[in-house]
Amino acid sequence: MDLEALNEYMTERGLPAWRTDQVWGWLARGAAGFDEMTDLPKDLRSDLGDSFEISTLGVAGSALSRDGTEKTLFETADGRPVEAVLMRYRDGRRSLCLSSQSGCPLTCTFCATGTMKFGRNLTESEILDQALHYRRSEAVDHAVFMGMGEPMMNLDNVLAACERLPEVGIANSHTTISTVGWLPGIERLAVEGPPVRLALSLHAPNDELRSEIMPINERYPISGLIEACLEWRRRRRRKVFVEYLMLEGVNDSPELARELGQLLGKGRDFKVNLIPFNPSGTGYQGSSREAIDRFRKALMSTGVHATVRLTRGRDIDAACGQLAARAAA
Ligand code: SAH
Repeated sequence: MDLEALNEYMTERGLPAWRTDQVWGWLARGAAGFDEMTDLPKDLRSDLGDSFEISTLGVAGSALSRDGTEKTLFETADGRPVEAVLMRYRDGRRSLCLSSQSGCPLTCTFCATGTMKFGRNLTESEILDQALHYRRSEAVDHAVFMGMGEPMMNLDNVLAACERLPEVGIANSHTTISTVGWLPGIERLAVEGPPVRLALSLHAPNDELRSEIMPINERYPISGLIEACLEWRRRRRRKVFVEYLMLEGVNDSPELARELGQLLGKGRDFKVNLIPFNPSGTGYQGSSREAIDRFRKALMSTGVHATVRLTRGRDIDAACGQLAARAAA
């Protein structure tokens, strides 16, 4: 729902602002149409139905993985592709992977999104409508900004959406913003905005290697990122998640694991998530299970805690780095 337009609509008709909040409340609880909003006057319900779509996003396709993961391809009103994923876990957790932009202007060499054309930043409502799409069919309780785009290049809208996610069922403590290392965004998140979690896509322990696989590192090198993360950690009192993609023969040696351990210090501030590489048509090979285990052991021996990410939805190209707006169509 275009909340800004809805607000204008109410103002123009001299209706109180709490009418907008009422509509939002219904949407956040999973309402699929205005007719369900029984505490609105009947005439208003039907007028709203004539003037508004329930979502700013149209559904252009969806795919269901064997593991229950569901990917949806949306289209904005101006025809931009946007993807989101719902991951259903056996313990009942329902986690959403949300997009902050259509496409991505950055060019990480291993990521499928970077190979598609960059569209634009998504609005607050376009971000929320991804979550509401799933909320209409079931309760959801976690969200990660790990879909298309770099959330910190669209931080105003991402934070505005985060402010409303608790009403949808997703607490800020269950919301994670993942960044390529957009330094001004990390610095800002340390001092303002809701208390969401922070994840840094590091993928290499030194600038030489990181710049090779992530060109953004030329602009914001590692030392500044670590410093900003430590500041965020001090202020927010949460550990920073570090994501580390496992690329065979590129960044997966035990030496690099120890270098990573040194960089991150004794593990008081960071938690590492090792990510098995998902095929993205970018020419890389993922590290073997054994190589990942070896890397993890070497890293743990430095005192840094590390887990290996469970891969979901790979059979439908819904896993990390695979969202490129093609397979869902
Ligand atoms: N731009 C943000 C959020 C989107 S990417 C960021 O970079 O953090 C979400 C995560 O998926 C990032 O850690 C990204 O590096 C990782 N990723 C990208 N391509 C991948 C691939 N092919 N396999 C596994 N993870 C990948």
